[in-house]
Parts: sequence; C-alpha cells; structure tokens
Amino acid sequence: MSNLYQIQSPAGEWIPVRNIYCIGRNYLDHISELNNEKPDTPFFFQKSLPALNTSDIIEMPEERDIHHELEIVILIHEDGEFISLTDAPKHIGGYGLGLDLTDRFLQNQFKSKQLPWLLAKSFKGSAVVSEFQSKPISDDFWLKVNGEEVQRGQVNQMINSIPEQIVYLSSMIPLMKGDIIFTGTPKGVGPIVVNDQLEMGVGDQFIKSLTVK
Ligand code: MG
Repeated sequence: MSNLYQIQSPAGEWIPVRNIYCIGRNYLDHISELNNEKPDTPFFFQKSLPALNTSDIIEMPEERDIHHELEIVILIHEDGEFISLTDAPKHIGGYGLGLDLTDRFLQNQFKSKQLPWLLAKSFKGSAVVSEFQSKPISDDFWLKVNGEEVQRGQVNQMINSIPEQIVYLSSMIPLMKGDIIFTGTPKGVGPIVVNDQLEMGVGDQFIKSLTVK
C-alpha cells in the first residue's frame, strides 16, 4: 500500500489524510514578531493534500522566500461536529511536530491585498509532519537550524488550546478522521535555504531531522 498522503497512527493504522488545517496567530510572541494583531476569534487556513510531507527532505521551490514555522500537529481519528470541550481529546488520535512552511514574501503580498494565503502556504511538501505519538506534548518543543535553536514553545503559551481549536473548528466545519491540524507557531520563524539541516524535538527527546534540498 502506498503511504502517499497517509499517516500512521500511534496504534499502527495507516489513515488517509483528508484535510490539513492550520490555525493562525496562536502565540502572542509570534503575533508581535510579525507585527500582526491578535484575532478576536480563532482563524484557520488550509494546505492542500500535496503539501503533506512525511519525508526527511524539504525540496525548496526555486527563488522563493520560505520560512519555517514549528508547530504541534494533531491527527483527528474520529469524525465529529459541534464537539464539546470535554469530548475534544477523544477525537485526537496522535500528537506530532511539524513545520508549516510558508512563502513569507508571497504571504505578505497576499496580506497587503487582503487575499487568501493558499498559494503562500501550500506548495508541494510544505506541510512537514513527524511521526505521531499517543502522548500529548506537554514539554517544551523546539527547532534547531544547523545546530542552533531558533524556536521553542510550550502548549500553555497557546491563545487557543488544542481542545479549544477542535471545539471552534468543528463548530464551523465537520471534522473527519484523517484531518490534521497545525496548532500554531511560537516566535522565532525565519528563512531556510538549501543545505540547511533542521532538527526538532520535545524536551530531551529528538523527534525528526530534515535536510533542505
Ligand atoms: Mg503557522
């Protein structure tokens, strides 16, 4: 069976990915670094399926200003709409780390024209995800570029917690088994270039490394 556009759950089941959702502006320190305003309500955007990247390679699109955004990613393993706060954790089938790779130049152009971000967010391979584990990520998560730490975050710094994101998103769009959600980036976003070596982890645990090609 091809693993293309599938994710292995912590229980070993291969799940076809359906939708890739991402919350925007969910950490105050990241909102200030990009001079954005704190949103009144959570807001989300999507990446298309060919953005999914479970490999250890980031293929740089040529002549683009690509930034890393380190995020906790969750896998939905049970359909649901209008999910309550208490039920939200039951819909989560796994926790991983990922990179919401972003063409910052294009995104700034779209932002200034008040246009959707899709094409800045959704190039091939732009939704990097690690393997998924069943344990929630409660320790610090971090990203190193060429051995130097550039991002570090904590779930308790989120403006909208992971369960709150599920409540809000599922009140607007029914969630499907196989959806994944990028839950926001802490400060420290920045460009990546060819030959960069990226490593991400949680606490003392190494999770995934990637090479930019
Ligand atoms: Mg992001």
